Amino acid sequence: MINFNVPPYTGKEMDYIKKAVENQKICGDGEFTRKCNAWIEEKTGTAKALLTTSCTHATELATLLADIKEGDEVIMPSYTFCSTADAFALRGAVPVFIDIRPDTMNLDEKLIEDAITPKTKAIVPVHYAGVSCEMDTILDIAKRHNLVVIEDAAQGIMSTYKGKALGTMGDFGCFSFHETKNFSMGEGGALLIRDEKDVEEAEILREKGTNRSKFFRGQIDKYTWVNYGSSYLPSDMNAAYLYAQLELADQITADRMATWEHYYKRLSPLKEKGILELPVIPEGCTHNAHMFYIKAENLEVRTALLSYLKEREILSVFHYIPLHSAPAGLKYGRFHGEDKYTTKESERLARLPMWYGLKPEQVDYICDQVEAFFSER
Ligand SMILES: *Cc1c(COP(=O)(O)O)cnc(C)c1O
Repeated sequence: MINFNVPPYTGKEMDYIKKAVENQKICGDGEFTRKCNAWIEEKTGTAKALLTTSCTHATELATLLADIKEGDEVIMPSYTFCSTADAFALRGAVPVFIDIRPDTMNLDEKLIEDAITPKTKAIVPVHYAGVSCEMDTILDIAKRHNLVVIEDAAQGIMSTYKGKALGTMGDFGCFSFHETKNFSMGEGGALLIRDEKDVEEAEILREKGTNRSKFFRGQIDKYTWVNYGSSYLPSDMNAAYLYAQLELADQITADRMATWEHYYKRLSPLKEKGILELPVIPEGCTHNAHMFYIKAENLEVRTALLSYLKEREILSVFHYIPLHSAPAGLKYGRFHGEDKYTTKESERLARLPMWYGLKPEQVDYICDQVEAFFSER
């Protein structure tokens, strides 16, 4: 069976976890957490990166920093994971879903302004498949309407938009290190903070409302409870696991890119014949091969394709059921404008196996089966 995902593993993870244990500092913000934060800061150029227990929690932290309150409206795509909306619903804010662009499956930046009301507080671009949203337009709208931008860059580490790392352009950016992402620590994430002015408050909110981070740096001689907060910092053992992968980030990304290019090349003839569609990478964007998806003609063809592949030992999967059709989406959010592409495109999309170490022979086998499926129809 060819799995859809196999969590990345480099071989050094256990050594680093052992080291974290030997350091006798396995709680948060130990040696490996600091190393991961520094790595992210250096690689992306963000002012500050803070490892968190998940991308969901990084987003929660961002909603607290952005002072999102009950009744505030937040513009986001409906085609995303529930975490994008959860953090806002938790604060009593209203997710206002807008339609996506069919080429990248990202929110359609041309539809944002029409969804803005006096209650709008933030825009949440989700960089689907690690391919950037149209950030120049989004940042310009945010500036003109005085809105906060929180990037859901859960899938976007190592990708860029006009040379800038995803997660660094908005006020806040959120990465995920869940086991399904390019680099993993089991469960985990990071908050990227663009402006120095937000760093101190973020450190306090993340450390149960205390100024413990300052205390650890020796800037104060005892720490105390200074604000509300929560516990958003992961154990250093998890950070140790992640650091082994960040060290090999270029190698892992190159391996995934080779797989992505291989799929693209092999399936291009089917695209030329108009039988299926392949991902689009807009000019100015580089991506991280987080995902390889294809789009079939419609839901019926996609369903048949997934079961055809499963019978041939290939686990290919669909993706998000649009949030505005989910029970919580109906309860907490609303869709603004017309759902021209969100439902239609999500029903056509199938993700093919993609992981670090997937072999070229396996990609060939998968492509052979996709070709066979379409030629038998
Ligand atoms: C994975 C993912 C999340 C959630 O990440 P966690 O680390 O599991 O909280 C949020 N948004 C998107 C787009 C994701 O792909």
